[in-house]
This record gives sequence, structure tokens and C-alpha cells, in this order.
Amino acid sequence: MTYSEKDDRMPIIHVDDSVCKGCGMCVIACPKQIIELDVSKINLKGYHPARLTDQSKCIGCGACRTMCPDVAITVEA
Ligand code: SF4
Ligand code: SF4
Repeated sequence: MTYSEKDDRMPIIHVDDSVCKGCGMCVIACPKQIIELDVSKINLKGYHPARLTDQSKCIGCGACRTMCPDVAITVEA
């Protein structure tokens, strides 16, 4: 059985750590609750950057990207 390329693809979220200011807007916006602030990291601005906790649950809705005031998130659906 073969699968189309589209079926194999899942949305990919990327957070630019150097731009993120740890405001948490994306955490609130995500309907799947799969974004958190990574308290184990501090970026050059002194903030805990956002990170995706479970890529497999992402539906590619783009709410996180839309909410981010600093355009730190890109979504490849
Ligand atoms: S694209 Fe949607 S589901 Fe995926 S991380 Fe962003 S808000 Fe959550
Ligand atoms: S909304 Fe943007 S700046 Fe705020 S925590 Fe999320 S990625 Fe960082």
C-alpha cells in the first residue's frame, strides 16, 4: 500500500528562540495545548522561549503564529 506525499506530511512548527519574548500568547492560543514556555532555556533577551511539546498533535491551524506579537513562529502545513 502506498500513501500520497500529502498524507505523510504533518504540520511543522518552528519557534525562533532568538526572537521570542516568552509572553505566552501562543501557549494560550493553541487549541491543542501543545506549546509551553521552556523553563530550562533562557534566550539572549533573558526570556524562556516557547516550545512545542508534541508535534504529532499539531493540526497546523496557525493560531500560534497569528497570536505571536513578534512573528517568532512559522508553520509549515
Ligand atoms: S499550529 Fe495550531 S495546533 Fe499547531 S502548535 Fe500552533 S496553535 Fe497549536
Ligand atoms: S507568542 Fe511569540 S513571543 Fe510570545 S511566547 Fe509565543 S513565540 Fe514567544
